[in-house]
Amino acid sequence: MPSGRDLGSKRGGTSKKNAFCSFCRKSYRDVGPLVEGPGDVYICGECIELCQSILDQEQKRRGSSKQLFTKIPSPREIVAGLDEYVIGQEAAKRVLAVAVHSHYKRLMAAEEESDVEIDKSNILLVGPTGCGKTLLAKTLAKSLNVPFAIGDATTLTEAGYVGEDVENLLLKLLHSADFDVEAAQRGVLYIDEIDKIGKTSQNVSITRDVSGEGVQQALLKMLEGTTANVPPQGGRKHPEQQYIQIDTTNILFVVGGTFTGIEDVISKRLGSRTMGFGQVGDEASELSLGETLAQVTPDDLVEYGLIPELIGRLPVITALQPLGEDALVRVLKEPKNALTRQYQHLFGMEDADLKFTDKALRAIARRASERETGARGLRSIIETVMMDIMFELPDQPRGSRYVVTDDIVEGREKMFTEPPQTKSA
Ligand code: ADP
Repeated sequence: MPSGRDLGSKRGGTSKKNAFCSFCRKSYRDVGPLVEGPGDVYICGECIELCQSILDQEQKRRGSSKQLFTKIPSPREIVAGLDEYVIGQEAAKRVLAVAVHSHYKRLMAAEEESDVEIDKSNILLVGPTGCGKTLLAKTLAKSLNVPFAIGDATTLTEAGYVGEDVENLLLKLLHSADFDVEAAQRGVLYIDEIDKIGKTSQNVSITRDVSGEGVQQALLKMLEGTTANVPPQGGRKHPEQQYIQIDTTNILFVVGGTFTGIEDVISKRLGSRTMGFGQVGDEASELSLGETLAQVTPDDLVEYGLIPELIGRLPVITALQPLGEDALVRVLKEPKNALTRQYQHLFGMEDADLKFTDKALRAIARRASERETGARGLRSIIETVMMDIMFELPDQPRGSRYVVTDDIVEGREKMFTEPPQTKSA
């Protein structure tokens, strides 16, 4: 509150004691100093704060819609944005970039109310665990400046059964848009583990298929574009509840799944075999996992257990490549928020210098690769390696230098500390 302009310092005595905030009608006594406007108008600190937040929200809303429609990023620009965080996956990046670019154009066409309606191109990402499916979707949403939420298909069940309703996914999007319905309706929703809701008809179960086809049908509706009733508190719907209505027509859905074993379906169709570990054979008929996955078609996914209608609503299908050791080394050091950079930053805050030798990075990558969880394993491996020194770091003399070598990663040696440069000089 700028003193000198408030009532307390401008006028003294009785008049300020009798003044009321013109907005909330509270008296000076209750709310403290008031700002005086021309005439007999006053405003209190609480109302000023409220006004500020209303203006902020309005500005945010306008800002986001302006950003969305004044400039459409080109596919090349989108890929460049993704390149900063995601290693490899060139094919998927291109496909995503084109799809998102078209999504923008589609939104624009809807704004202009032109006769030609452009169909939505939701995206299906197929690829092994930890190869960057979620990361791609997340990075994409960040660069686009639209609300983004991640949901998990495995938690969903058909309405009426124990579990979550499909609408709860939209609630997440609404949350990330700060309950701005307009913004949420243009957001990006990533649904993970779509492969886990495959039809279970081939299985022996004779009971009702609670999590499979019914959920796919519900998802299908959402993907097609519907006005969904979203319970603001989440959880199961019940009749007395108030709902927020969300139109899903302009929401871009990205669904992802590992589809474990789909390579066998693809190989069978192609008449080739997928190369397993340590197998040597006729190269012409054997493809690596990545090469096989790249040839995935909608039919393979139907065979895997997704209903054809759902696949039909996911016109863009793209496969991600498993990350090899070389890619994992790059993941460790190249992205803007690479793990090694994060640690270096932490060390920098303690005036300490941290380096990883190339061999150390390779050793970490090798270990992660053995776990077969893609880049996911990297974090826990590096955390274990750094554990002791992170514990000691704040007590070490300032200006220390640390080098992580492969011996340390492999546990053959403890963290090597050079004395601070100033002392050794
Ligand atoms: P999934 O494919 O299972 O969705 P994620 O995208 O969640 O895998 O990846 C898990 C983590 O691994 C990410 O947070 C990221 O740090 C890292 N990661 C995975 N793939 C890549 C990649 N291609 N480039 C950079 N980092 C990656």
